[in-house]
Amino acid sequence: MSRPSNFPPPFSARDYVAEPTDPADERIEVGILIVGAGPAGLACAIRLGQLLEEHPEMAERLGDVPVAVLEKGKQPGSHLLSGAVVDPRALRRLFKDRLRMDELPSYGEVPGESVYVLSRRSALPIPPPPPMRNHGNWIFSLSELGRFLAEKAEEAGAMILPETAAQKLLVSHGRVMGVRTGDKGRGREGGELGNFEAGSDLVAKVTVLAEGTQGHLTGVAIDRFSLGGEEPQVWELAVKEVWKVAKPLDRVIHTMGWPLRGAKKYREFGGSFIYPMGEDMVTIGLVVGLDYRDASLSVHDLLQELKTHPKIRKILKGGERLQWGAKTIPSGGFNSLPRELHAPGLLLCGDGVGMVNVPRLKGIHYAIESGKLAAEAAFRALQRGETPSSALSSYDDAIRDSFIWKDLHEVRNMRQVFQRGFFVGGALASAMTMSKGKAEIGKMQAEPDAEQSLIVTDRDKSYPAPDGKLTFDKLSSVFASGNKTRDDQPNHIRVERRVARDVAELWAHMCPAQVYKVGREDEDGTVMVDVAPSNCVQCGAITAKGGRLTPPEGGSGPEYTVT
Ligand SMILES: Cc1cc2nc3c(=O)[nH]c(=O)nc-3n(C[C@H](O)[C@H](O)[C@H](O)COP(=O)(O)OP(=O)(O)OC[C@H]3O[C@@H](n4cnc5c(N)ncnc54)[C@H](O)[C@@H]3O)c2cc1C
Ligand code: SF4
Repeated sequence: MSRPSNFPPPFSARDYVAEPTDPADERIEVGILIVGAGPAGLACAIRLGQLLEEHPEMAERLGDVPVAVLEKGKQPGSHLLSGAVVDPRALRRLFKDRLRMDELPSYGEVPGESVYVLSRRSALPIPPPPPMRNHGNWIFSLSELGRFLAEKAEEAGAMILPETAAQKLLVSHGRVMGVRTGDKGRGREGGELGNFEAGSDLVAKVTVLAEGTQGHLTGVAIDRFSLGGEEPQVWELAVKEVWKVAKPLDRVIHTMGWPLRGAKKYREFGGSFIYPMGEDMVTIGLVVGLDYRDASLSVHDLLQELKTHPKIRKILKGGERLQWGAKTIPSGGFNSLPRELHAPGLLLCGDGVGMVNVPRLKGIHYAIESGKLAAEAAFRALQRGETPSSALSSYDDAIRDSFIWKDLHEVRNMRQVFQRGFFVGGALASAMTMSKGKAEIGKMQAEPDAEQSLIVTDRDKSYPAPDGKLTFDKLSSVFASGNKTRDDQPNHIRVERRVARDVAELWAHMCPAQVYKVGREDEDGTVMVDVAPSNCVQCGAITAKGGRLTPPEGGSGPEYTVT
C-alpha cells in the first residue's frame, strides 16, 4: 500500500525565486502587475482602472503602463473553466452604477433547481439542502465572462499580455519586485529553436498573484514567505462538458451518490452539477475530492458513466458534445487559508489561496471581491508612496471584514467532516449549515491528498466503453478542450519517474488528459511512468496527488471558449 507522497517530485520552490537578471534598462516596468486573467485578476484590473480614473495624478506616478495583466492562455478565458452559477454580490459591487447584471454576458437568473440522490437506475428527488439553494444567482460561462471582463479591464486602461506565463517570482532584499516570464521556442531537451524568445523581467511596485487553483507562483510565494495556514490545502478534481441539446433544461440540477461509492474506505466525496445555458446548451460536470484512495478511479470516466444514467441520458438525448475540460478546486476552506495574504510588494487573491465555499461550489464572487479589495489596498499603499509589508496589510484587514471571511468561517469544517464517510459527514455538515457555523463539532485535521494510502480495485472495469456520441475516451476529450500544446516543448510536469505500481496506476487513471502511462516494470517491482506532457490541460490534479505542474510555454494548453 503506497502513498503518492512516498515519491516526491523533483521540484524545489526555491528554484523559482530569483533576483532580476535583465540589465536595469531592459526590464519592463509597470505600476501594478497582476498575474492571471481570471475573475480575481480582472476584477483587480477593473477596480484599479476605476480608481485611476478618479485620481489621474496617480496614473502618471505609475508610469507608462500603470496596470498590466499576464495570462498564460491563448487569450483571457482560454484557461477559465467553472460551473458556473454565480452569486452576483461581488459583480454588483464591482460595477456599481456602471453596469447592471443583465448587461453582462450571462444565461440569466437560475430558473429553478432540483437535487437528486442517484443510484445506478433511480433518482430520488430531495429538497435542496441550504448550500445548494441558488435562488437569485446567475448562470454564466466563466470563459465567456472572462473575455468580457478582459475587455472592460482594457477599456479601463490595463494592458493585457496573453500567451505569457509567469515562471519565477522576482525577489530582492526580501521584497517582491515582479515576475520573470517563461521562455518561448525551446525544444524538448531545452535547446533554442529558430523562433526562440527569451522571457523577460517584469518589475512592478506591487505584484498581485491571481493565478487560480494550484497557482504556481502562489505556492512559491507561500513557501518563500512562510505564509502557510493552519491546515494543508486539499483539492477536488472537476471534469465537465458543454453540450448542445435538443430540449431546453428548465432548472439547475445537483446530484449526489452514484457513481461515487459511499463506503468510508474509498473516501469518495463529491457530486455532479447540470446547468442550463440558454435554450440550447447544457453543462454537465462531476466534482470528486482528491483525497480518494482507489488508484483505479478516473473522474473523466466517472463522468462518462454518469451520462448513461436514465435521468441524465434523457437531458442529453439528441444532443452533441461541444467542449470538454478539467480543473481542480481548492477545498480546504477557512482553515487552509494562508496565515497572511500579503508579503512585501505582494498580494494574493482568489482560488490561489483557496477562497472557495465548497458546499455551495462557489468561488467566483470571492475571487472578484478579493481582486477588488487587492486593488484598493495596493492603490492606498501607492498613494502613500510606499509598499513595505505593513502598507499592504490593510488587504488582510479588508478581507477579514468582508463577506468572504464570514462565509468561509461559517462552513469552515465542511470538507473535513466528509473524511468520516458520506453519511456521518452529511449529518455533521447539516448541523453546521443549520447553525450557520455556530455548532462546534471540534477541529478536524485535513490530511494532504497525496498522503492517502492507496487501494486498488477493479472500478475501472465498469467504466462504459466510449461510443463517440454519449461517452468518450480521454484523447477525444483532450481534442474537445481545444488543446494545441506543441509536442516538442520541454516537459513542464515534475513527477518521479520510477514509482510503485499503484502510484503509477493512480496517476494514469486520475489524469483526465491521458498524460501518464504505466511503463516497464523493474526487478524491484517499481515501474517507469511514461509522460506525454503535450496532452496536459493544466487541471492541477497532479500537484495535489504527488507531482508538480509548472506553467508550460505561454499560449499552450486548452482553448476553452464556453466552459
Ligand atoms: C468545474 C468547476 C465548477 C465550478 N463551479 C462554480 C460555480 O458554479 N460558481 C462559482 O462561484 N464558482 C465555481 N467554481 C469555482 C470558481 O471557478 C473559482 O473559484 C474561480 O474561477 C476562481 O477565480 P480566480 O480568478 O481565482 O482563478 P481562475 O479562474 O483559475 O483564473 C486564474 C487565471 O490565471 C491564469 N494563470 C495562472 N497561473 C498563471 C501564471 N503563472 N502566469 C500567467 N497566467 C496564469 C490562468 O490561466 C487563469 O486564466 C467552480 C470551479 C470548477 C473547476
Ligand atoms: S498532467 Fe495536466 S491534465 Fe493531467 S492531471 Fe496533471 S495537470 Fe491535470
